Amino acid sequence: MKNSIKLDKNGYYGEFGGKYIPETLMNELEKIDQAYHHLKTDPKFQEELTDLLRNYANRPSLLYYAKNMTDDLGGAQIYLKREDLNHTGAHKINNVLGQALVAKHLGKTRLIAETGAGQHGVATATVAALLGMSCEVFMGKEDTDRQRLNVYRMELLGAKVHSVTSGSMVLKDAVNATMQEWASRVDDTFYLMGSAVGPYPFPEMVHDFQSVISKETKIQLAAQKHQLPDMVVACVGGGSNAIGSFADFIDDPTVQLVGAEAAGRGIDTKDTAATIELGSTGIFHGMKSIFLQDENGQINPVYSISAGLDYPGVGPEHSALAKANRAQYVGITDDEAVNAFEYIAKQEGIIAAIESCHAVAYVQKIAPKMRKDQIIVCTLSGRGDKDVSSVLKYKGVDLDV
Ligand SMILES: *Cc1c(COP(=O)(O)O)cnc(C)c1O
Repeated sequence: MKNSIKLDKNGYYGEFGGKYIPETLMNELEKIDQAYHHLKTDPKFQEELTDLLRNYANRPSLLYYAKNMTDDLGGAQIYLKREDLNHTGAHKINNVLGQALVAKHLGKTRLIAETGAGQHGVATATVAALLGMSCEVFMGKEDTDRQRLNVYRMELLGAKVHSVTSGSMVLKDAVNATMQEWASRVDDTFYLMGSAVGPYPFPEMVHDFQSVISKETKIQLAAQKHQLPDMVVACVGGGSNAIGSFADFIDDPTVQLVGAEAAGRGIDTKDTAATIELGSTGIFHGMKSIFLQDENGQINPVYSISAGLDYPGVGPEHSALAKANRAQYVGITDDEAVNAFEYIAKQEGIIAAIESCHAVAYVQKIAPKMRKDQIIVCTLSGRGDKDVSSVLKYKGVDLDV
């Protein structure tokens, strides 16, 4: 089992991963690979990153004992890993700071990124401003129309936003446009990957930069309870907050790992983003992994109430963890996520991101079935202020905000 989930020297986790990119980019990926593997063990680079994480991003994030939820659900003890308290309000900053520093060490001056709802674009624009780099973000026209506030946030931070009008004008088209832009201009440009996806070594970099979540959790829980958690739960879009939450526990066989995918209106409908439950092996975004696609390998449109979870695939390490049964992936519907959004707000006084509420919804189901001496850690990947108006709309109230 172990062998099929560990990264091999060709960049595969079992059968998933690899580099499926135009020939012109092979050289560049090779350079990134070499530079990253040097920096990974370079104490000066690690110090630079740790300093930014602490003093700019507000780490370590709290591990909070959710006493009210624990009492109410009447089973396992529930701890929340508070990535929502980071600067910019989500876990994305951990990864963006790391990759931007790698880009800087490679002598790059220009960051490009693709974004769906705009959250990764905003995080990238933030760090580009901080490090004095230029930034261009590609976003499907459907999304630039729907997410005008995030477009303005990126512009405010000094980034240029390109509205992509090819294909169906959504995230998958923005991915293709960003790949093309990168292939046409590698000299000064770094493609900053937004999740644990893309060609090798991006999934490894994102795993490493997000693993700060589980490393802190392990230390914080040991200090409070002198034990490992019995279960770790996190939501899965491309899989970066989940892989970061799982990373330091993958080799601890007593820790159950659970990823909550967006089932949208239900896995028996077309309006879903439950990749691992419903998808099949294919190639997209420079990697071999599991995708929602038709029989010709065309990527399907995906849907979830949560903009951060409607990615049509999942990172290769998650595909391998699922295949090896080391992690379980469960679908959570819009209804269940909205219910969890209201539940955690009323129980704990925390407005959590609708993405994170997919994980909270699973905790609501599983905690009552577990013993009181067991511990669940649930990652709150982000804060939910951004979701208030769309949740209200979902409930039939249309605010003009
Ligand atoms: C982007 C985002 C996600 C989904 O991305 P992953 O790579 O799967 O972590 C989840 N939660 C929040 C708050 C996000 O912004």
